[in-house]
Formats: sequence, structure tokens, C-alpha cells
Amino acid sequence: MQEQYDSPLFEQAYTYSGADLGALWSREETRLRLWAPTAEDVRVRLYRSGNPWEDDLLEELPMERSTQGTWCLTLPGNQNGVYYTYLTDGQEVCDPYARTTGVNGRRAMILELPSTNPPGWESDADPHGGSPITDAVIYELHLRDLSMGRCSHIRNKGKFLGLTETGTALPDGTPTGLDHIKALGVTHVQLLPVFDYGSVDESRQDIPQYNWGYDPMNYNVPEGSYATDPYRGEVRVREMKQMVKALHDNGLSVVMDVVYNHVYWAEDFCFNRIVPGYFSRPDSNGSACGNDTASERSMVRKYIVDSLCYWAEEYHIDGFRFDLVGLIDTETIRQAMAAVHASHPNVLFYGEGWSMDTRTTRPGVSLATQANSGRLPGFGFFNDSIRDLLRGSVFYPQELGYVTGALPQGDALRSCFMGVTPWACQPGQSINYVSCHDNHTLFDRLALALPGASRQELIRRSNLAAAFCILSQGVPFFQAGEEMLRSKPKGHGKFDGNSYRSPDRVNALRWEHLKEAETRQTLAYYRGLIAFRKAHPCLRLQRREDIFAAVTPIPCDNPHTLAFRLRESGKRLLVIFHADTEDAFFSLPEGRWQLCIDSDRAGTTSLGTFSGSIRIPALSAMVLTGTD
Ligand code: CA
Repeated sequence: MQEQYDSPLFEQAYTYSGADLGALWSREETRLRLWAPTAEDVRVRLYRSGNPWEDDLLEELPMERSTQGTWCLTLPGNQNGVYYTYLTDGQEVCDPYARTTGVNGRRAMILELPSTNPPGWESDADPHGGSPITDAVIYELHLRDLSMGRCSHIRNKGKFLGLTETGTALPDGTPTGLDHIKALGVTHVQLLPVFDYGSVDESRQDIPQYNWGYDPMNYNVPEGSYATDPYRGEVRVREMKQMVKALHDNGLSVVMDVVYNHVYWAEDFCFNRIVPGYFSRPDSNGSACGNDTASERSMVRKYIVDSLCYWAEEYHIDGFRFDLVGLIDTETIRQAMAAVHASHPNVLFYGEGWSMDTRTTRPGVSLATQANSGRLPGFGFFNDSIRDLLRGSVFYPQELGYVTGALPQGDALRSCFMGVTPWACQPGQSINYVSCHDNHTLFDRLALALPGASRQELIRRSNLAAAFCILSQGVPFFQAGEEMLRSKPKGHGKFDGNSYRSPDRVNALRWEHLKEAETRQTLAYYRGLIAFRKAHPCLRLQRREDIFAAVTPIPCDNPHTLAFRLRESGKRLLVIFHADTEDAFFSLPEGRWQLCIDSDRAGTTSLGTFSGSIRIPALSAMVLTGTD
């Protein structure tokens, strides 16, 4: 069977390019079309409910063979709210193009999509549409982490609607939730999987369940456990749109984490049951999840492209973060970007371009890895170099990085600040970060590397890492809570480095920490760094040649010190990073300089005027501005 799929004859006979796969609703009729080229018999089952255990079959109807391996049926009348499945050669499966489902994603539902639009949806738009990716500041968030903490004061805990609530605060007025994110100054909220995934039982919301959600079930359906009612298919759709609208209304763009590289369970995945084994590469497990997606096959490629266009169009999604995109072929990504950008030109694309051991089913397939960034202009990749150089390797928790005392080797870290990596062709292709959901939080990672260090010292080192990352050329990105010294303690002095299914007590953001002076100060520091970045175009350059013209490294005697001179119209910037545990003196270029950022204060207003030389305290970033 697998050889057959990869034959040019099969491709030619069975590549369907129409835009009508799935259930197309209208008031008069619903048209169903399924791609099932190898099936002998295909039927549709209509149900009253979406509950897979309910014996409430309304009708079972045969489908007719149509072009290019597809099967069709038209249902007369208004079918909105009717649940359905396909029966392909006796196997009952969900529609891969399902727009929504009942509980746990087993039965699809025919949906009048416009009825799920919140008020004002027609005029809803990306608040940062038109800005280059280097203007983005990305905040990575798991929906549940935002609200599950006991001090979030968010009513809709763990739900899409929790991210629509404004006015939530600690008793002293310190904002939590959406207001907190808004005040931080980030431009994009990147949500961990919010499409339908399999590891949480949506019918058991009486018991606490947690998962990051990297186990896709239905690619084009919102996750039911995030809806206030997972049983009624329209609710999850409406509530996810409400969330997007609320974020847009508050000046925040929305990035979805998409996981096309593998599925929850390859044998059970509906596409693979309809066309046996077609969706997955045979015997390939580069994802370490048991299966890799055969994106190079024409109808898988179309499925991924269609899915991305659907989220951008129907849900107004402003960006896509691809999980393990190094497993997907460059041609699929290229086509997806072209298709989405044709009607939504500002949508961001980036992902994890690690090189992994996968077995593509065809020769000559190139994969979307960092090394192939030249084939994907405009597609960003997570920069593991800046992460590991600043804080130490994610694989060796005790290894030191620049902010924990390791001496910078060669020019690698200096180049990271300048947005120049061996693989990124343009600065916008480098997504700079020191923490994300994977591995330890920044604070925990520093604590593991320096077990004897005081909390004060760790905060100084953490701030130094943040300043470096947020002021570097490229696209700054951080895990939610990094700005509040997020920690995931496991007890006995250990920290959770892979909390994908750990309880809320490990994962939830602990808003009560904002009562502590040092956490408030760290939060203010992040706000100031972001505000400073936004105020200075020379930190957000879009082209390599502009960076080489505007940014000059300054040689320093102290090997722990990295310094740069930057230039923008009428202004000069001096950016100094000092990871030594001793203070040092730095000779300032001629003129008067305003200090805007030091070890624990950051912003756009002057903290003092300097000329001649300046004392650089141990473990600190110092940023000064001057006029020409
Ligand atoms: Ca689910």
C-alpha cells in the first residue's frame, strides 16, 4: 500500500485540489465530500448527539464515488447541529475536515459557521498587521496556566473565556491574566495547542487533568476541555473566537502552536483509517511520538495547507508556530505560506527547525530545518544557540552559560546579539529565547547551575539574560511567567523540566508572587526592556546589511564584557553586558550619555547622565543613549 501511495500514477489519479472537502453547510443543503481513494464502500452516519457512546443514529446513507478518489453526498435542508461520522469499509471515523465535534472528538458536527461569530467579528483584525516580524515580542502561554492559580481571580478557569476577562487583579490592584499581559507590552500571545488533542478526557472535567496538548486528534477543531461545554460542538468554536477577539481588542495578536508533524495515535487517526497509513511515514519516528507525518504526499500537503488557511480565515489567527517543523518538507511550508499570505499577508510563520532522524517516503525531499532557512524566506526558526550560549545547554543542567559565568567562546554570542547566525539569512528568521515551555524555566535553570547562589544573585543573572535576549536583533520570545521569576518546583530541591502532564500546582502561574517586591521589580524590568526595544528602531532591523551598518561591537579587555555601539537617526546607543562578578569601569565615547537600563531598572526615561567613564556593576546590563 505504502509503495502505491508514492507512485506517480497514484498521485496523478487521486490528487484532489477542490476546496470543498468536509461538510459545506448552507441553509438549503449540506454537501459532504471525503477523500477516500482506496475505499470500496463509504457511508455517512447522522446522529442526534456528539456523544460517541449514545445510540442515537438518525440515518445511514451511502456516498457516491466522485472525481480523484473523493466520495460525495448532498443532504437537503438545514443540517446545522447534526452530528456525523463516515463509515469507510465498515470502519467508523471522524471527518478529517471536521469543523467541530462532540465530546472527545469522535463525531463531527455540521456547523453554520457564521452563527459562531462574536459581535464585531467582521471588523476584527490583527492589531499588528503590517508590522515586520522583528517588531514582534512573543509571549508563550498555556491557556490553563494563566487562570488555574488560586490568585488569578479569573472566573473561567482553564477556559478560552478566561483569556477574555479584563479587570482581574490581586486585592492590592496588581493586574492578573489578560490585563497583566497587556501591561507587559508584548505584541503576540502564542498559545500552546488549542486545537483538539487527545490526552485530556473532555467528559471528565470533574477531575483535574493537565496536558500541553502535543497530541493532535482533530486538526481543525478547537480543544473541547477549553470550552464551557465540550458536548455542544458550536460552543468551543464560538468561545475560541471570543478569545481571539478579546486579545485583538486588547492590542494583542494571536499565534497558534500547530503540531502537524505527528498525531496522537497513528493507527487511530481518522485520516489513516480512511486511507490506511497514508498520513504517516512508514516506520519513521523522528518526532519521538511514534509517528511522523508524510507531508510530502500530495493530499497530506493539501490537508496542512487547507488547515492553516482555515485557522487564519475563520479564526483570524495572526501567526503559526510549528512544532518540530524540521520533520515537514520545505515545499509544504512554502505552499502553506503562499496560500495563507495570498489573503492574509501579515501572518507570521516560525517553528522548531531541529534536524531529526526521519524517513521521508520519497527521494530528494528537503526538510524545514534551520540549515534550509534559505529555501524558506520569511519563516523564522527558534535560535537554540542564543539560548544555550546565555544559560547553558538544555541537555546538561549544570553546564554554565554566559550569564552564569562561562566565558564567551569566539564571536558566537556577539553574532547572536547582531542577529547573525550560521543559518538565519535575515534577522527576522531568528526567534531569540532563553526559556519556553520545554525544559527548565530560566530561573530554575540558573538555580540548577549555581546551587550556592543567593536569590538576589540569581535575579541579577536572570535579568542579564532577559536584557540580552530582548535587546538582540531578531524576534524576542519568552515563556509566560519568566517576567515573574517562574519556577516549577518538584520538591526536594528539584525542578520540573518536562511538565507536560504535571499538575496545575507545578504549571499554573502564581500571581501571588507579585506581592513580593523582587518579583514586582523583575516584572517592571521586563516591561522596561520591551518598551525600550519598541522605542528604538535600531534594535529591530530587518536586513542583515542594515545591522552591519548600524551595529558595531566594541572590543573590551574584560572577557566577561560584551559591548556594542548602535546608531539610528539622530541617536546613538551603547549596550553593555557584563557577566563578571566584579564591578568594572567602561570608557564612554565622547559626549553626554543617558542611562536607561541597568541591572534592575529599565525603561525609556533617563536614570542619570554620564560622560567620561561609567562604573559597570557586577552582573549587569547597561544601556545608554546619546545624541549625535
Ligand atoms: Ca480533545
